[in-house]
Amino acid sequence: MSADLLPVLPDDIFKLVFEKSPGSLLVKGDAPRFTIVAASDTYLDVTSSTREAIVGKGFFEAFPEDKTLSDDTNARIIFTRVVNTRQKIDVPAYRFDVFNTDTKTYTERHWSCSNTPIFDGDNNVAYILNTVVDITDEVRAREASTENENRLLLATEAAAMATWDLGLLDNSFVCSPRLAEIFGFSADTTVVRENLQTQIDADDMKNIVVPAYHKALLTGTYVYEVKIHLPDDSLRWIKTQGIVVYDDKKEPVRMLGTVIDITDTKRDEIRKNDFIAMASHELKTPLTSIKAYIQILTKRLIPVNDSFVNTTLMKAGNQVTKMTDLIHSFLDLSRLESGKLQLKLDVFNMNELVAETIAETQLLSPGHPIEFEPGRQLFVKADAEKIGQVIGNLLSNALKYSDKDSTITVTCTIENNNVKVLVTDNGIGIKAKDQEKLFQRFYRVESDKMKNISGFGIGLYLSSEIIQRHRGTIGVQSEEGRGATFYFTLPAATGI
Ligand code: ADP
Repeated sequence: MSADLLPVLPDDIFKLVFEKSPGSLLVKGDAPRFTIVAASDTYLDVTSSTREAIVGKGFFEAFPEDKTLSDDTNARIIFTRVVNTRQKIDVPAYRFDVFNTDTKTYTERHWSCSNTPIFDGDNNVAYILNTVVDITDEVRAREASTENENRLLLATEAAAMATWDLGLLDNSFVCSPRLAEIFGFSADTTVVRENLQTQIDADDMKNIVVPAYHKALLTGTYVYEVKIHLPDDSLRWIKTQGIVVYDDKKEPVRMLGTVIDITDTKRDEIRKNDFIAMASHELKTPLTSIKAYIQILTKRLIPVNDSFVNTTLMKAGNQVTKMTDLIHSFLDLSRLESGKLQLKLDVFNMNELVAETIAETQLLSPGHPIEFEPGRQLFVKADAEKIGQVIGNLLSNALKYSDKDSTITVTCTIENNNVKVLVTDNGIGIKAKDQEKLFQRFYRVESDKMKNISGFGIGLYLSSEIIQRHRGTIGVQSEEGRGATFYFTLPAATGI
């Protein structure tokens, strides 16, 4: 290295800096020999060589040429090109296994290198600075991410799942070929989101997709199940699930998700619903007769005044009422799932309905104190029978999940133009983690206390669906072991 190349640094300082630099080698431009002039410590380390062994030798004397390498990575071809073209040549990635002299084994390593020409006074390539960077970690990370992507691809393919990516700012839409198949086209068809949307059942679009989209923008989670019409006029059910991606300012920018065909599951559900509806319907008639017989017997036996007979008949009557309620719930469940739950809207006084429902429910558990002070009239426009069912459900749960001598308090108030009904018990309470799931279909808390209390886990699900269909809210506040307050609100009727 002549001093005029680096006039500011004395040769020995330059040598030191060079030797300490990461992965550098300086060769002369004396093709085809390419005499090694200097090598850094790291370079020697990586190549398991010593300065004495390689400096002064031709590059290919020191490091035998690997003829299996491609033109893009073969050092002889690259050095020659640098000399001929006088251009810097980068090799972004290549593999060169490092020999470990202690273990006598090779370790796989990946490198990237650049070959920079250094010119003499006549503008000829006097030297080539070969700088090598170890990129093994990056390569491994890239491989791992490709592997993850492949695994994800395999999983989505195995699950016959379509994936999609929607840009919320520019409305861009990218999806996997499976989406076209789900919508009834061949996998290679290019689909347009707007066209796919026209295949979604019009009612489902209005009642399910649009609300789900708005909810997603607020909650970050997009999920819905809808019917779609295929080009051959057949019907298919799909389930879409997605998440919203936000930018630094917490603005929604993208939605990513999956679509699966759930037609078979839906058909099973429909069959199951039809069966439940049919069985419940058939059970209703004999139960109504049993109830009537019990009432006749009760009336006939009043003069006998046998307390055992009276109590037994009352218990039998209560059991029939419970069974009738259960069957009604099953009927409602099947109506709800098949979209046939109709609301009969009337204006009524909520306080009156609460008082009536308490009187009916109290019969199921006489002696269990229920406190209620009806205040002024609070009118709502709703389906009185269905709302009565909701109140009855909250009350019977309060009775079921608290001690017989603990008081249940019912309150009815008005809050921000909403009529609010609260049912508070001092029973077993509910853990925070269970509270949000209580309103899901068939959800029951699993605990020792619950083992001996029967139930199906549909009461709160139905209550929540009924209240939501009235544009109201339902919820719970509770702590385990410290009772619970279940409440619901309904918009107050205006113009009364
Ligand atoms: P069921 O009572 O038939 O199991 P519900 O849908 O009415 O079904 O209630 C779902 C679950 O919520 C119950 O299984 C119970 O674990 C819990 N739960 C409901 N009400 C109460 C309450 N007042 N106190 C404690 N747990 C309750």
